[in-house]
Amino acid sequence: MFGVSSLSLRGMTLREAVTSASEAEFDVFEFVPQVFGSIDTYTCRVRQELRGMFENFELVTIHSSDIELEKGVPADLTSEDALLREKSINKYLDYLELALDVGARMITFHPAPRDKIVTCTPDPVPYLEFAEIALEFIGTEDIYLGYEFFDVELIHTIGNPRFGLLFDAGHAASLFEGEATAGVLKLLDNALLATIEVHLHGVDFSGSGFKIDHVPFSRSRAIDCGQVFRLLTDTGFAGPLVFEIGIFEKNRASENLKHSIEARNEMLAKMEMS
Ligand SMILES: [Zn+2]
Repeated sequence: MFGVSSLSLRGMTLREAVTSASEAEFDVFEFVPQVFGSIDTYTCRVRQELRGMFENFELVTIHSSDIELEKGVPADLTSEDALLREKSINKYLDYLELALDVGARMITFHPAPRDKIVTCTPDPVPYLEFAEIALEFIGTEDIYLGYEFFDVELIHTIGNPRFGLLFDAGHAASLFEGEATAGVLKLLDNALLATIEVHLHGVDFSGSGFKIDHVPFSRSRAIDCGQVFRLLTDTGFAGPLVFEIGIFEKNRASENLKHSIEARNEMLAKMEMS
């Protein structure tokens, strides 16, 4: 199942983004609500309307990156400030409620702001605490939850098949020196059992050798996305594979969509070859 992220479609209205993804024949739409407005703007009527619009997809997954509690204050489940942590939990539960209301069957969280995404969490308690609260919140609803990070052990500790890991192969590339494909494949192989969703984007080297991620596949010199895809198909991964291309580029939605379609077609061609 291939999907496109709303982050790539900044500048479009939500209706335009959904229509474009659907017309481009993506099975999956990754809905990042805050791209289109504050969560408070999703009234009951809007939620109902969205539920209808989302029926065109095999799966809608909500993603919660860069959530702010208020202007300039990022949500952080791992904050040492108890009040901020509590506010963050409540904010994330608002997203979970939205997911249930619009019929999304997956929701993934950045537990902390971007710079805190880690392979091994120094203190697992807040992650475990939120997982427990979120799992209780969903009850018997048909929805999967996940954290976008690389701490496989923590997912095993949560120990609930409804709670998994979102493996971002592009971010994984930044954990290794130089050309990162071999390292990423090893990390992914180890994470596969816990993985419910994969983010894929090209990663290139900047002039000074640093990695630049979220670039089109055609510019990906630091990771071979085709090999990542091959590992996923060889091992029977059935979850969504969402392209996050050009997400930092404002108003480049059509170009990003084009690159996402190209990426999908390249992966499909690999499937036919094997
Ligand atoms: Zn990602």
